[in-house]
Amino acid sequence: MASKQLKIFTREEVAKHNKQDDLWIIIDAKVYDLTRFVGMHPGGIAALTDEEVAGQDATDQFFALHRFEVLLKPQYQRLIIGNIEGEEAALHPPNVGDISKVPYAEPTWLTEGYYSPYYTENHRELQRAVRRFTDEYLVPDALAREEDGKRPDQKVLDKMAELELHAMRLGPGKHLQGRTLMGGIVKPEEFNYFHELVVMQEMVRCGARGYGDGLLGGKVIGLPPVLNFGSQELKDRVVPEVLAAKKFICLAISEAHAGSDVMGLQTTAVKTEDGKEWIINGSKKWITNGTFADYFTVGCKTEDGFTVILVEKGSGIETRQIKTSYSTTAGTAFITFDNARAPVGNTLGEEGGGIFVMLSNFNHERWVMCCASARAQRGIVEECLKWTSQRKAFGKPLNSLATVRAKLAAMIQRAESVQNWLESITYQMCNMSYKQQASKLAGQIALLKSYSTSCAQETARDAVQLFGGRGITKTGMGRLIEHYHRTIPFDALLGGAEDVLSDLGVRQALRSMPHDARL
Ligand SMILES: Cc1cc2nc3c(=O)[nH]c(=O)nc-3n(C[C@H](O)[C@H](O)[C@H](O)COP(=O)(O)OP(=O)(O)OC[C@H]3O[C@@H](n4cnc5c(N)ncnc54)[C@H](O)[C@@H]3O)c2cc1C
Repeated sequence: MASKQLKIFTREEVAKHNKQDDLWIIIDAKVYDLTRFVGMHPGGIAALTDEEVAGQDATDQFFALHRFEVLLKPQYQRLIIGNIEGEEAALHPPNVGDISKVPYAEPTWLTEGYYSPYYTENHRELQRAVRRFTDEYLVPDALAREEDGKRPDQKVLDKMAELELHAMRLGPGKHLQGRTLMGGIVKPEEFNYFHELVVMQEMVRCGARGYGDGLLGGKVIGLPPVLNFGSQELKDRVVPEVLAAKKFICLAISEAHAGSDVMGLQTTAVKTEDGKEWIINGSKKWITNGTFADYFTVGCKTEDGFTVILVEKGSGIETRQIKTSYSTTAGTAFITFDNARAPVGNTLGEEGGGIFVMLSNFNHERWVMCCASARAQRGIVEECLKWTSQRKAFGKPLNSLATVRAKLAAMIQRAESVQNWLESITYQMCNMSYKQQASKLAGQIALLKSYSTSCAQETARDAVQLFGGRGITKTGMGRLIEHYHRTIPFDALLGGAEDVLSDLGVRQALRSMPHDARL
């Protein structure tokens, strides 16, 4: 498309166009002709014909009420007719892949002039690549899918498969062998939990909670039991097609009667007389990606305890979308198993050993959630720092008020403490065997997740307060705050409810109390 020839104007020239039928304004050294737009302005005609706006520099007024992205839309770009003589645009929207310059908007290791013992140049290279991928592919798809509620675009999932992002989201391990990670940036044998943390935290930046889970959250929690406990035949068949996003999997443990109380689950699996198949009956509730899953990793009650079975979609299985307060793009399902069948070879782990399979899944699942929660909180800190700088009340920016600064301080402290504890635990994970992690980190990860989600809920409440009415408005300046505040309780429930995890963390600590400890 040929670019329009822009003219150069003086401020005096622009000032002459200050009537409804001939209306120009200046935003950041660019001249906009709003004559044909004024009647369509969503904020009304009066806002544009105001004497401080019509023919004037309206940069501050614009940014008090609009996000940068509005200016970038083609329909508004078309209104630009020229530039102001001798002036350059001073405000710049973030480019794809940019690191934010807003204080605390990035974790310390990504902030210029700071250091970290945890991240190598290889982590940094991966971070740059995943950020570009997120900005280019995930953000636009997230915005569209949050609107239409459909699952993530297959083209995006295919692109993720090509870069092996689905495989990297399962952490280090044999499943990475022979794969080209992010175009070859990381060698499979060098991939560690900090690489995984980077992938997770970069992807979360798209700021869409339901979409984030739709992006195969079910695989992150549903595939590890297959990887760690499935037969070789099962792994060879299922893992490649799931990591290629050709088939989808979910973890189906929770039931209407059994959420926190996993031992209370009532779905049964009984063997056929010939002992070759399981017959499964029962229901599962709030199962992420369940509506579009081909495989279900199902927790069942069996003759000798609990058993986890991989059930393939087929007759006797029905899934229904549950409408939750986040978008249907996550595919949250109510699932019924009505004499559904699975070969006995699909048993994951020992028969009767299902509790071990389910529990061993929790540490990684919860740690992943902490990665996401820490980064999402930071995104809210950035929104609030920007907003309180550009929004004026009583003639001054909001951040000139001590009460506002106190809220910002608390948000920053929470985001930083969560990230720092997370990095410390991640370092332990890098240096411990899987077994050591299970015994030494279950309590710490439980406490971190519960701390992280309670910090997140406080930050969500503070952010709404700072954004005022915009904090509860789905579009416009506060859209990310509204979304965050509406969806933040999810994190405090899934993967173990906040109170349950606090209690678990302390109980784990009490188990290690030395018998001879006295005051
Ligand atoms: C959006 C979403 C997605 C989910 N995805 C999945 C999925 O993919 N697969 C899956 O299997 N499950 C999934 N779940 C289910 C999730 O694991 C359960 O919601 C969670 O385990 C809590 O169970 P519950 O909702 O039945 O709450 P309940 O167990 O009824 O607990 C309600 C509240 O009671 C309190 N409480 C209960 N027990 C204790 C205790 N021992 N100590 C202290 N307080 C306690 C807590 O405050 C808790 O929040 C998902 C849930 C949601 C909301």
